[in-house]
Amino acid sequence: MTRHFATINGKPVTGGPSFAVVNPATGGEAGRAPNMGAAELDAAVAAAQAAFPEWSTRSDEALQAACAAVTAKIEEHAEELARLVTLEQGKPLNGLGSRWEIGGAIAWAGYTTGLSLPIKVLQDNEQGRVELHRKPLGVVGSITPWNFPLMIAIWHILPALRTGNTVVIKPSPHTPLSTLRLVEIINAVLPPGVVNVVTGDDKAFNIGAAMSAHPDIRKIVFTGSCATGQKIMQSAAPTMKRLTLEMGGNDAGIVLPDVDPEKIAEGLFWGAFINNGQTCAAMKRLYVHESVHDAVCDALAAFARKIEVGDGMDEKSILGPIQNRMQFDKVLSLVADAKKRGRVLLGGEPGEGLFFPPTIITGLSNGDALVDEEQFGPALPVICYRDVEEAIAMANDSSNGLGGSVWSSDVEAARKLAGKMQCGSVWINKHGAIQPNAPFGGVKASGLGVEFAEEGLQEYTDVQVIFA
Ligand code: NAD
Repeated sequence: MTRHFATINGKPVTGGPSFAVVNPATGGEAGRAPNMGAAELDAAVAAAQAAFPEWSTRSDEALQAACAAVTAKIEEHAEELARLVTLEQGKPLNGLGSRWEIGGAIAWAGYTTGLSLPIKVLQDNEQGRVELHRKPLGVVGSITPWNFPLMIAIWHILPALRTGNTVVIKPSPHTPLSTLRLVEIINAVLPPGVVNVVTGDDKAFNIGAAMSAHPDIRKIVFTGSCATGQKIMQSAAPTMKRLTLEMGGNDAGIVLPDVDPEKIAEGLFWGAFINNGQTCAAMKRLYVHESVHDAVCDALAAFARKIEVGDGMDEKSILGPIQNRMQFDKVLSLVADAKKRGRVLLGGEPGEGLFFPPTIITGLSNGDALVDEEQFGPALPVICYRDVEEAIAMANDSSNGLGGSVWSSDVEAARKLAGKMQCGSVWINKHGAIQPNAPFGGVKASGLGVEFAEEGLQEYTDVQVIFA
């Protein structure tokens, strides 16, 4: 099987122990990744620290040109990276799968390249001139999850580079291969040490935990579960690291009585089932008014029946397997519990290996585990409601607050309700449609800070005010 190499200080790190990465579609080996420890992490951080003085003092134009070169490199290797993502992550090449993910990575990289944080003049009069400068932090540690390994890597790396920081990235042990290759590819256009990658299986040594406590890392940008985000916050405290934490969600969608069920079925389906539901801002609970409940359920199930599930390498597949055994078991147990309480409209029975068909279960309510917990898989609970205020209250009855959506023919009425939802993003007649020019982040337990746009870029800098 192909062994993939880490890149530290611009050089491939060969030798040393490795671990197997599973192809979730077949159960076979997708490749092997280095199983690194404290020494390799220290070497990567030292390389990033050594690269920082030159990189951080480059002109804004030079940083922008370097980011454009990074974007071009990803574009050049798009198909290779897409295949690697499908191999290790399971999502199909087609549909909203790996080619779409790499397309997103390129779009984000390009947009971030074009952003800048110019000096802001706060005052300029006879009393004096006051300027706000944005300064790079130093070494940024990036810790990524397994659901969108390549796109999230770009969400972390590009803003760090654009603002003059250097990077050590650590992908999930479930999906390290595409990040290893990405870092190798972009090192061709970067000075040694500007972007380094370390990988490990999280067994004997947890690299992410060590990064969170590392004295020479100035910021952690993390995407992953709430439990891990909380641990990072604790271990980052003694070194006062800057943190951007994008964590779990349990997004609610609220369907108002005035919808046309046929018209919204496709949007509802992809809002919930994109990447098999393994998406932070997927719709994970659907509240439907009683007057349209049955019609919406029928239209949604009819659309879902047309979706081809299979090995992502097959060009016909539109959804792949669940990414890993732990997640599969979680979905299986939540569906088993929901089946006792509600009515299965579609799916409900596991397929071969890690395959699980799109599953829709109605007749559930808040208090049922499939509604209250983040399933992070292809199983959507539908809750029937009578009163819109009651639906809002149920939607807000969650410790999470990542995204939410309102579905209605009356956009103005939907916008009013959107303001009552306790979450970082609210979509109207769609769900989860993030874009690089709009800040994205969670409220409540879903996170800290935002990514994307100017607001996201600012999080990779310290403010310095100069009074003259
Ligand atoms: P996870 O928290 O288990 O792992 C994420 C990363 O953290 C991995 O790289 C892992 O190796 C690392 N890690 C493990 N223990 C650590 C520790 N003690 N300290 C530091 N790092 C550690 O999450 P996951 O299972 O990979 O991803 C699924 C979760 O991520 C879901 O809850 C999902 O909602 C969330 N997610 C959120 C967003 C978002 O933008 N809000 C995006 C994608 C996924």
